[in-house]
Amino acid sequence: MADTVVSPRLEVRELTKHFALRGGFGRSKEVVHAVDDVSLRIGAGQTLAIVGESGCGKSTLARCIVGLTSPTAGQVLLDGVDIAQPVALREHRREIQLVSQNPLSALNRRRTVGSAIVQAMQVHGLGGSKQARLDAADDLLERVGLRRDYRDRFPSAMSGGEMQRAVIARALAVEPSVLVLDEPTSSLDVSVKAKIVNLLLELQRDLGLTYVIITHEIDLALHIADRVAIMYLGRVTEDASVEQASCTPLHPYAKLLLAAKPVPDPRSRAAYVGIDGEVPSAVDPPKGCRFHTRCPLAIDVCTTVRPDLTDLGDGQLVACHRAEPRDRKGLLDVVADPHD
Ligand code: SF4
Repeated sequence: MADTVVSPRLEVRELTKHFALRGGFGRSKEVVHAVDDVSLRIGAGQTLAIVGESGCGKSTLARCIVGLTSPTAGQVLLDGVDIAQPVALREHRREIQLVSQNPLSALNRRRTVGSAIVQAMQVHGLGGSKQARLDAADDLLERVGLRRDYRDRFPSAMSGGEMQRAVIARALAVEPSVLVLDEPTSSLDVSVKAKIVNLLLELQRDLGLTYVIITHEIDLALHIADRVAIMYLGRVTEDASVEQASCTPLHPYAKLLLAAKPVPDPRSRAAYVGIDGEVPSAVDPPKGCRFHTRCPLAIDVCTTVRPDLTDLGDGQLVACHRAEPRDRKGLLDVVADPHD
């Protein structure tokens, strides 16, 4: 696995998405800073996991990447073409598909699974005749581990795992090269989750798909990804290879997330695993480093000067005034037990 992405299949460049909230009588409009100046890249056939707590902006970023929301500023480059532009998006929409968080809401309850898959092909003029599309739907259902007779089932007659497989089949129906998967396993129980993860890995291997996985589960990210980008309050705090993210995370927030990941024996966990305090409001995010209100290592400069993502070696990008490669061990110890 490469530590740096030399020729990206997909690149997000300086992407910002702000939402204006409607102001009440006599009140000025407020702005939600959902995503701020995010840059990411991932190579063909690789997986980028975007990780963060609820409200960090990762789902908004996913919607910007697939063109469901227009960014306020910035670019989404697919093989160098900016698909954030409407004309380019129309031309390339088929190539990048979203698998959304809740499979039940992603499927039309009044449509059979087969009809949903055939409709996706029709919209993009794929599959040929009606019979050819139905045959292709059967093949896709088998491809994702469902029997052919699921073609005539409605979502209400399927389990959560089966619905997720059907949603993946519908996304594959338009022959994409990139899948953006928003919390693909968060609504599933542990055994089903493992099967869906294995299915995704198998599909990637067989079809050469590029994945962007949006998740709050750091253990899923470390299991499935080549690169991991950690977001906090609209910004990327660390963007690293999976080995760097799991063995030598450099940003304090990344270290705390890693320390909090589930372990088989919780008694073996380091003394301090929580992140103190609440996530501040995205309407009025903290100045300087957005993590400074919760960071055990914050110093004065953190409250006023925004740290830029900087390559601290081997393509490990970190936005922290205090992170230095030579401090890896020292910072990790401090963050692991700040009350020592
Ligand atoms: Fe903590 Fe300062 Fe680094 Fe932000 S810049 S993560 S507040 S040490």
